Amino acid sequence: TISMAVFDRMGHIAVGTSTNGASFKIPGRVGDGPIAGSSAYADSEVGACGATGDGDIMMRFLPCYQVVESMRLGMEPILAARDAISRIRRKFPDFIGAVFAVNKNGLHAGACHGWTFQYSVRSPQMKDVQVFTVVP
Ligand code: ASP
Repeated sequence: TISMAVFDRMGHIAVGTSTNGASFKIPGRVGDGPIAGSSAYADSEVGACGATGDGDIMMRFLPCYQVVESMRLGMEPILAARDAISRIRRKFPDFIGAVFAVNKNGLHAGACHGWTFQYSVRSPQMKDVQVFTVVP
């Protein structure tokens, strides 16, 4: 899965998710990718979130909607990301997944469970992407 958040010069934020789907997915399965708030969510007034992992579990929690709403209430991206992951972990201790969170000022963070997660960031001032590694 690749989830992405993009900011334009006007401060609009857009998100999208492209996924191959979960391993051993059943035919006709609708995963978390097309569910708004599950794999991705953005509000230009607040920020954005993208997710990857066990979609059939994660979609029950709308983790990206949760992250954006937590940031709306004033949570830093790192705390919002960790909170969304911990809400899932409390109910499904064995799930594997991750989210990134970025607020409208560009402050970003990631949180994960069950695996090590990497996300990358690039802004116009940067020559190349910078890769961030998040450990559970
Ligand atoms: N979330 C995706 C799915 O369940 C899988 C992934 O993130 O790799 O379809």
